[in-house]
Amino acid sequence: MAVDSPLSSQLGPPACERDAKALHFIEETTSHADSVQDRVLTEILTRNSQTEYLTRFKLNGATDRETFKSKLPIITYEDLQPEIHRIANGDRSAILSAHPISEFLTSSGTSAGERKLMPTIKEELDRRRLLYSLLMPVMNLYVPGLERGKGLYFLFVKSETRTPGGLLARPVLTSYYKSDHFKTRPYDPYNVYTSPNEAILCPDSFQSMYAQMLCGLLQRQQVLRVGAVFASGLLRAIRFLQLNWRQLTQDIETGALNPKLTDPSLREYMDKILKPNPELAECVRHECSKDNWEGIIARIWQNTKYLDVIVTGAMAQYIPTLDYYSGGLPLACTMYASSECYFGLNLNPMCKPSQVSYTIMPNMAYFEFLPHEPDSFGFPCDSPPKLVDLVDVEVGKEYELVITTYAGLYRYRVGDILRVTGFHNSAPQFHFVRRKNVLLSIDSDKTDEAELQKAVENASRLLREFNTSVVEYTSYADTRTIPGHYVIYWELLGKDSANSPTDEVLKQCCLAMEESLNSVYRQGRVADNSIGPLEIRVVKNGTFEELMDYAISRGASINQYKVPRCVNFTPIMELLDSRVVSSHFSPASPHWTPERRR
Ligand code: AMP
Repeated sequence: MAVDSPLSSQLGPPACERDAKALHFIEETTSHADSVQDRVLTEILTRNSQTEYLTRFKLNGATDRETFKSKLPIITYEDLQPEIHRIANGDRSAILSAHPISEFLTSSGTSAGERKLMPTIKEELDRRRLLYSLLMPVMNLYVPGLERGKGLYFLFVKSETRTPGGLLARPVLTSYYKSDHFKTRPYDPYNVYTSPNEAILCPDSFQSMYAQMLCGLLQRQQVLRVGAVFASGLLRAIRFLQLNWRQLTQDIETGALNPKLTDPSLREYMDKILKPNPELAECVRHECSKDNWEGIIARIWQNTKYLDVIVTGAMAQYIPTLDYYSGGLPLACTMYASSECYFGLNLNPMCKPSQVSYTIMPNMAYFEFLPHEPDSFGFPCDSPPKLVDLVDVEVGKEYELVITTYAGLYRYRVGDILRVTGFHNSAPQFHFVRRKNVLLSIDSDKTDEAELQKAVENASRLLREFNTSVVEYTSYADTRTIPGHYVIYWELLGKDSANSPTDEVLKQCCLAMEESLNSVYRQGRVADNSIGPLEIRVVKNGTFEELMDYAISRGASINQYKVPRCVNFTPIMELLDSRVVSSHFSPASPHWTPERRR
């Protein structure tokens, strides 16, 4: 029921007084985007004026944009490595931030094969909570009645480590779920989850998923929305149900919890809510035992109004599979965030995935935009790039996001390419175009061309004793199975047909490639089970020449033709697959531990 509030918003009539405040905040902040940005930059530069970093660039206490832009360089993670190392090794002086660094957030972006370490400060949790608090008030504008039911969200914590200097290093969501902001959040009828904290915080991923699925099944009539952070996570939950529904329905039928769930607090919670319910067990069994799982989400959780998962960027590849399992339920992408900073939200969350635009909230950080010319490689040294302020970006143009945060990143290139689609008040709205330099991604892994090249080189060493080399290769993220996996097409040149590499050798090549890929990939394979074994498909000799002929027939220049290192265009896939002579899968998991290699 909408309320008639003095704070009524142009976004629509708020569902309750608290929503009215949130919507008013969005309107206020986006209406005064430029002055909010001014305030944010002044706050960041004032409080951090004595830090080693700002002193080094002789800001001398200036807080205006012009001085800031003229004195501070635009940087990447690599430029900050020395400072990050010192903080990680225990230097507690005010290097980047006047506020103590409370922990490191481990990004899914990597540097030298390991997750990037993003320093953060305690108060950033408040900013994250603030952004989360805006999501339901916006959703309530589009989907009424969500306070009458619950959300089935599959949320997980991941392993954490300590740096040599004793700071915790963990993913941003793990940090958030383990914080009091999440654990002791006040009751909010619009945000009730079927998963208890005991399940979300259980470090064992099988037990956590099992308990969350069981709770979701037990409360199936109350579930109004189903979600996970990313599309890949929700599909993993569906796969889990495929593999475990027999045991789950047995637990529901008998009221006795699967003995594999050994976590004491989880057992204690589940023992309280699990009672024999043969009728529910039969109903779930009836649906799950069918061969055809099309629309399974809507069949089991019949009151679901939408799926809450990110399907923009690399996750767009999962839209057809999600549509299949959900029977075409709407897909809502609500927010855009990273370890470095939470950026903004989608003010029209029920729009089609292809139309999703995120409105950057000007209070989260100071934002600048590096114009991105799709076909240019870098910029000439004598003309430094001209960065544009948040309110000055132009509709239709593409930019790389550059941020200055309260935690002490100054003019830091995030690596995301965004296209301006419009404005809400004076705050721009962005379509997420892509992350720079990402060739392959299944879950949160991001593999670039150099990493793939190195992996192919390392693996192909195993072919030397067979006098065989890899003459050409390309790759494909195969998401038709759950979990998805990397496929690498190899064209081989063997000089000794009597001694060509066996299936066993090519399997070892798959594993060698996996060993060589970055730690986020290996964690996905080993700990999260979110990526399946890598596959090498050997293609007939001459296949890559045919690929070139095909590209040239479609207008590519013969002089400039380069083998694409990743493919997903159907005719090319069909051409490659029709030339496959053998296929080989990695026979084991690569090495991975939470500890960093360096
Ligand atoms: P991480 O630092 O590991 O949390 O990853 C953050 C990155 O994930 C962002 O910089 C984006 O590249 C990507 N990402 C986050 N939210 C979205 C979204 N809503 N749509 C597309 N990509 C996203």
